[in-house]
Amino acid sequence: RQRVLLAATLACDPDLLIADEPTTALDVSVQKDILALIRRLCRDRNMALLFITHDLNLAPLLTEQVAFMSAGRIEKVVPSAEVVLPALPQKTERVPTEAVPVLQAVNLSVSYPGAKQLAVAGVDLELRPGQAVGLLGESGCGKTTLGRTLVGLEKIHDGHIKFQGRDLAGLSRKELRALRRKIQIIFQDPLSSLNPRMNVLDIVTEGILAFKLIHGDREKAARGILKDVGLDADALYRYPHEFSGGQRQRINIARAISLKPDFIVCDEPVSALDVSIQAQIINLLLDLREKYHLSYLFISHDLSVVSHIANRIAVMYLGRIVEFGETGDIVFHPKHPYTKALISAVPQPGFHREKWPALEGSTPSPSAPPKGCRFHPRCPEVMAVCRKEAPRKTGKDSHTVCCHLYTK
Ligand code: SF4
Repeated sequence: RQRVLLAATLACDPDLLIADEPTTALDVSVQKDILALIRRLCRDRNMALLFITHDLNLAPLLTEQVAFMSAGRIEKVVPSAEVVLPALPQKTERVPTEAVPVLQAVNLSVSYPGAKQLAVAGVDLELRPGQAVGLLGESGCGKTTLGRTLVGLEKIHDGHIKFQGRDLAGLSRKELRALRRKIQIIFQDPLSSLNPRMNVLDIVTEGILAFKLIHGDREKAARGILKDVGLDADALYRYPHEFSGGQRQRINIARAISLKPDFIVCDEPVSALDVSIQAQIINLLLDLREKYHLSYLFISHDLSVVSHIANRIAVMYLGRIVEFGETGDIVFHPKHPYTKALISAVPQPGFHREKWPALEGSTPSPSAPPKGCRFHPRCPEVMAVCRKEAPRKTGKDSHTVCCHLYTK
């Protein structure tokens, strides 16, 4: 779609292109393609570029100078080569592994009705209490389907989900309903996930009334929950459209934590927000994790966001987890060629804009995944065996990978 918009823009052969956050909603690999295209078009057509972005990593890649703007004023202008980029985190705390997992997916497969292929194919995943696992991958790889399945919004085709050691398939409806409140989800779009006809008081207390978790003053309970997410009590009788994007996401988080869950799926919760608001929401999620000992499955296509919040990262490609390990190991010692490509597509300090590493091609359709290793048409290290056999998982529990490079 962004290519179509670019084509329309170029139809009148302009001298100046103003690109307003052209890649904010895109994956890193697609982002790279679009930015490389803009750079080539500007060079070939001798077209000036004003590139508007909230992402400090991207600004120097396409430009000669970066102007920093705040409250309507240009505060400073610096040569792009002198912009200091924020570094990826150097380490993450480790969660003790002896605790019973709060959630386990065992060989989990999910298909959509009528579809022959699986959207999620044989996924194993484990989260410990208080642990945040990042689920990283491009659009359409099955991340959201997996997250929705874990909270019971999609049907399981095969495999099991265990919550605190109990297989969900073996529970009665009553037991399942009681468990449901401990498993919550925060959606990507903060506006469309809130009912526009309900005020904040109703949104935040709907669940706790349904589960009979309060007996007294619901306004008082709602005020306490709003305080947890950094909203004032005067928000109680207002409606979703009266809030900013960041505030709406706080309301979504308030709704999720109102039921005192143990596990929350956060499905791209900050991808629609500005970078400064993203940081506030991530810090809020980190504070709440600490305060309530929550576990998160944090779904995102943005490595820098995932590496900030997650203890461990699962990398997903076309319905399969291809690598899983501690955040530091995934970021600094990736093994799978796809993980390496994703990480190298993220601009980092010292990175030269003419040497932007490429992840060739786009993700194949999940309805017709390639035979053998699903990544083989794009893999720079592909071998003959990769086209025939799907690789099995190898490695220790702390760092596993599915790739023939690591099988004997
Ligand atoms: Fe590349 Fe082969 Fe490994 Fe797949 S199995 S990631 S094609 S080397």
